[in-house]
Amino acid sequence: MLTRRKFIKNTGKGLVGTMLAGSLLDVEEASALENEAQKRLSFTQDRLMYTYKDLAPYIDALTMEIHYTKHHTAYIKSVNEAIIAENVMEQTGRDLFKDVASYSDKLRNNAGGAWNHNFFWESMTPKVGTPPSKLADMIQATFGSFEQFKEQFAQAAVTHFGSGWTWLVDHKGKMEIISTSNQDNPLMGPAQKTPLLGLDVWEHAYYLKYQNRRSEYVQNWWNVVHWDKVAERLI
Ligand code: MN
Repeated sequence: MLTRRKFIKNTGKGLVGTMLAGSLLDVEEASALENEAQKRLSFTQDRLMYTYKDLAPYIDALTMEIHYTKHHTAYIKSVNEAIIAENVMEQTGRDLFKDVASYSDKLRNNAGGAWNHNFFWESMTPKVGTPPSKLADMIQATFGSFEQFKEQFAQAAVTHFGSGWTWLVDHKGKMEIISTSNQDNPLMGPAQKTPLLGLDVWEHAYYLKYQNRRSEYVQNWWNVVHWDKVAERLI
């Protein structure tokens, strides 16, 4: 575009009217394209509301640091590259996830990775808490008790085969526990279930501290769930 503009600037004078009109249109077109590019959807990495060591001993500082600065950063960089390469015109992440089947695996995986981890960081806190009353009531009504909910969620997380996520979602006013593979999330596809809570069960999320003991990671993770944030996500 800069090249086109330079060309127009250098050659504009003295061109016949029709040519000049064509060049001016090109300038407008280039400017419109630049505006489009500036408006283009991009993913950013949210700042952590705690330090790497604050979730210890449940999640250790080194795992947090590598997870945040290496894994998540890489998803953010790759999704933004893919958005440009595939000329994605969606205006929101939500729209992109709804139409995700139209795009490449690179875009799908990295968009999920970018969004899921922001959601995950925000779902955790070093402050001990319990579900606020409205959330607690919904959990009890759906799963029988808070303990039964935790058991069912942990069961889903521990038995999910391979890399992925386990979620508590709201689907049309009903709570469900679901798991997704790779970096897929509940917003992907036309149904778009609303994520309330998500747990990363990729080995990179726990292997340094827990090795193969995913179950122990899941049990300890309950100590750092940010229940006030989960409640805010209820529609
Ligand atoms: Mn992860």
